[in-house]
Amino acid sequence: MKTKPQKSFTPGQSVLVREIWQGKVWTARPEIVVQDTPELLVLYKARGTRWKQSISPDGTKPSVQSRKSGQWQLSDAVWDIEGNLRLNITGCHYSVLAFWNDSHESLRYWYINLEYPIIHTEKGFDYTDMLLDILVEPDLKTWHWKDADEFQEALDIGLISPQEAKMFRAEGEKALKLLQSGKSIFNHWENWRPDPSWQVPSLPGSWNII
Ligand SMILES: [Mg+2]
Repeated sequence: MKTKPQKSFTPGQSVLVREIWQGKVWTARPEIVVQDTPELLVLYKARGTRWKQSISPDGTKPSVQSRKSGQWQLSDAVWDIEGNLRLNITGCHYSVLAFWNDSHESLRYWYINLEYPIIHTEKGFDYTDMLLDILVEPDLKTWHWKDADEFQEALDIGLISPQEAKMFRAEGEKALKLLQSGKSIFNHWENWRPDPSWQVPSLPGSWNII
C-alpha cells in the first residue's frame, strides 16, 4: 500500500486529520504538524481544538453495531484537556500517543492506538481506528488493554475478521515491547513541548469531503 506521496507537510502547518469508517468520516480534527518525515510523523492536537465527533441519533456514543451499519452523525466538540502528540512510523498498524497532565508538566500516560496505516491526503491524514488500545503508565511497566470489550464485540458481529483481530493484538504487543524498551523512536518525546506561538488550528471547510 502506498501511504506516503512525495509531498510532506511543514512543521507548524495545520492539517486535517480524520478517522474513516465504512467510507464515511467518523471524526475530523485539525492538528499541527511537528514533523513529517519518512522516519516519523508527529502531530499535535492542541487544547481547545474544535473538532467533529461521531454520535448516535440520540446523542450518545455510537455502538459498535452502528459502526457496522454506518448509522452515525457528526457533532461539534471541543478538546478541553491538555494537548496530545501522535507519533507514527509510515506503514505501521498503530500510533503511539503521549498524553500530558494539565499545564503539560508531566506525562500522564502513553496510549498505543491500533489502526490501519495512516494515509497522506491532500489536506492531511486519514486512517481507520481499530477500537483496541493499550494504556501505558509513564513507568513503562504498568499497562492494560483499553476497549477490549468493544474490540471483542466488533469481532463477534463481523465488523472485523478473526485474522484482523489476531494481527492487531500482535501489533499492539509489538508496539508495547518497543515502548517498554525505553529506547524506541517514541521514547523521550514526552519531553517535547509545543511552540508557545502556535494558535489553535481550525477545521478547513472541506473537512467532510472524502
Ligand atoms: Mg483507538
